[in-house]
Amino acid sequence: MQLTPNFSLEQLSYSETAQRERIDNTPGADIVDNLRRLAEGLERVRILTGCPLEISSAYRCPELNRRVGGASSSQHTQGLAADFTCTGFGAPADIIKAICASGIEFDQCILEYAQWVHISFSQAPRGRVLSIYDAAQGYVDGLRDASGKQIA
Ligand SMILES: [Zn+2]
Repeated sequence: MQLTPNFSLEQLSYSETAQRERIDNTPGADIVDNLRRLAEGLERVRILTGCPLEISSAYRCPELNRRVGGASSSQHTQGLAADFTCTGFGAPADIIKAICASGIEFDQCILEYAQWVHISFSQAPRGRVLSIYDAAQGYVDGLRDASGKQIA
């Protein structure tokens, strides 16, 4: 089922881990509504970058979320968050800079291990930007490089 021109329900509920571990990651009807909101947000990012987004993880049922070590409160379990790269556009930090400059309303945008962008969309978007480099240290405020220096 196509949710927006560039994003389908199948794409936003696909998981390599779920396939391998035979976890049924099919979202329920309430989650599908959230995934539609997520797809609309991702569509704005897609227009901004002008390049396809490579989505590594969006919806995760609780079992899958546990399996990948996600926080139990993760917005992935509500179908409101996606992890992605956009190699055609540039590095994850540059994508986040562009999103912040664009005025696209998001709930949280997180630079994760300098490897990918985590973005979430909710009804009352907080516009929070965070970075994480070390799971033990956790999230730090703002867009930062590995040494903790503010990037933007
Ligand atoms: Zn994520």
